[in-house]
Amino acid sequence: MAVKKKTPGKQAGGAAAKSGGAAKDPAKAKRTGESHSFQAEVSQLLHLMVHSVYSQSEIFLRELISNAADACDKLRYEALTDTALLDDDPALAITISIDRKARILSVADNGIGMSRQDLIENLGTIARSGTRRYLESLGDKGADVSLIGQFGVGFYSAFMVAEEVEVISTRAGGAQCWSWRSDGQGAFDISRVAKTDENWRPRGTAVRLHIAPKSKEYLDTARIETIVKTYSNHIPFTIEIIEGGGKSAEVRRHINAAGALWMRPKKDITDEQYREFYAHVGHQFDTPAHIMHYKAEGRHEYTVLLFVPSQRPLDLFDPQRQGRIKLYVKRVFITDEAGLVPSYLRFVRGVIDSEDIPLNISREMLQNNPIVAAISKAVANRVLSELKKLADKKPDVFSTIWEAFGPVLKEGLYEDMERRDKLLELVRFRTTASDGENRSLKDYVADLKENQTAIYFIAGDDAAAIAESPQLEGFAARGIEVLLLSDPVDNFWTTTVLGYDGKPFKSVTQGAADLENIPLLGKDAGKTKPAASKAAMAALIAALKQALGEKVSDVRVSQRLVDSPVCLVSQAGGFDRGLEKILGQQPGGGGGERPRILEINPDHGVIASLAKAARSGGGGFAAEDTAWLLFDQARILDGETVSDPADFSDRLMRMMAANLDAAPGAKPKKAKAKA
Ligand code: ADP
Repeated sequence: MAVKKKTPGKQAGGAAAKSGGAAKDPAKAKRTGESHSFQAEVSQLLHLMVHSVYSQSEIFLRELISNAADACDKLRYEALTDTALLDDDPALAITISIDRKARILSVADNGIGMSRQDLIENLGTIARSGTRRYLESLGDKGADVSLIGQFGVGFYSAFMVAEEVEVISTRAGGAQCWSWRSDGQGAFDISRVAKTDENWRPRGTAVRLHIAPKSKEYLDTARIETIVKTYSNHIPFTIEIIEGGGKSAEVRRHINAAGALWMRPKKDITDEQYREFYAHVGHQFDTPAHIMHYKAEGRHEYTVLLFVPSQRPLDLFDPQRQGRIKLYVKRVFITDEAGLVPSYLRFVRGVIDSEDIPLNISREMLQNNPIVAAISKAVANRVLSELKKLADKKPDVFSTIWEAFGPVLKEGLYEDMERRDKLLELVRFRTTASDGENRSLKDYVADLKENQTAIYFIAGDDAAAIAESPQLEGFAARGIEVLLLSDPVDNFWTTTVLGYDGKPFKSVTQGAADLENIPLLGKDAGKTKPAASKAAMAALIAALKQALGEKVSDVRVSQRLVDSPVCLVSQAGGFDRGLEKILGQQPGGGGGERPRILEINPDHGVIASLAKAARSGGGGFAAEDTAWLLFDQARILDGETVSDPADFSDRLMRMMAANLDAAPGAKPKKAKAKA
């Protein structure tokens, strides 16, 4: 750790060091500045920050340092094609200074800087996409301010500790220095900083916080140093701290480890250091479930430091489905938008640093670069093989990962044909036999019943409801395990994945159940004869078909029902019931309903009696009412509403009345006309 005295005028850190000066009178800038209103969402966010009583307000420093590091990364990248940008001040660094008398804490960098327009857009008028989501998330579960960085709005956390925030910035290569200033109350001022002003800077940004009395701890050097070491020790730029507020007795100290952590040998890195770096690089604050750190030295040379989180990042289900792995070339940050891993691995965070990609490559050219493609392919394979290893050797860890990212990994089943088999080894399911535990397909296949040739599943959006579906009864009676699929993605992969280990996936709500060759268990064993005769069932089926018309595509005797009287299934070769429901809700998805098959249970007492009545054609068999009530009942069992509530109610009342009339002692009365 270097300790050196500095005299004014000979500033080793160049621009960064300028920030240590005494405070400029805030009131004066306000008078000369041009006032802008914050966008409504930003105002809302600021209000929250200003009034925050969050105990971990210290995270503001992590956010400001992270922004400063990004600014240095951006300049280093731009300087690849325009070396003049770095000429005057090549050592990129972050400088923290404390002026206790003026109550100012400043975090400065000599990175890319911001123009007047950048200041207006980035810090106030164009509400960033993260703002709304962040506010929503706070609404959901109380203010967890620490998540702010994940939403790309970390800068505003400065208002947790400052009465006023001033940002002084000069865009690299630009001629003008600008000041942005706000007390977080709805507006900010923009004004030009004259070259003669002591806060003027040749390049980069200084964020000057006028610390509120309640937060005076942040004017204490030791406290700041501790925070930097806790959260930002391994950002890859030097962080210096200056004490003395611009006086000749200024002391500059280098306080972080700096350097690219990923280049250090694994054995020299502690868990804590990995974790701190993960928080920085991934904007995630959980403990990673798994860390992959290795150097590839085959045809291409590159270093990989990747983290599999243990908790879901909040952007996991964003429509862009973008990964955020940072691509570096020889320690120079290039982009975090190179899409280095397939979308279904987007939860993996970290850094890949290549030795072979040409440094002057433009971001646009990366898409087609064969080295990037080769690295991406190898890394995706490696991630999957590490996950497999975890699944085999550390099932607890794998289970944490699966609970968090299972639905995302399953997207790969229909998106990545090349790795589908590997993914099929990883997928885990709740099943009718799993008792809360996750089962693999290997487990499932090992427990197949005699003559069972398919892997059965049921899909729907409510795990508890699908487990109660009548369609499962015939499977339960035979001890056949059924996968319970309740992630929206399940409706899609089950239509494209052909099978596992030669066994096709088959929905229990679709097509014929084909269960006759699989023996019944326990109380149901030996029960082969239906309670109603074939002829009686045929009469009932004919009556139901006629009454329901085009509402159903067929009415038939069920193999899959044991206790329930009826259920609905979809046709073989079409979509499974779960997917039909989803498609029915989408615009252009076929809308409305597709005709389904009504299955009836000949073993059910009421069905058997109805069948007899239908056969004998005796009085009291109301075909229309019976058909519609059975159909509506099947809909209800499927979690749907009845087709026509008023009609349903009338029919039910008629049936009840008829039943009362038939009761012994009741005055006989003719059944009311059928609808
Ligand atoms: P994030 O950094 O996650 O994008 P912030 O709210 O922290 O969100 O910052 C908003 C934007 O302001 C940044 O994306 C960046 O463009 C700009 N910015 C913030 N701090 C700096 C800085 N020190 N140098 C340059 N630009 C900055």
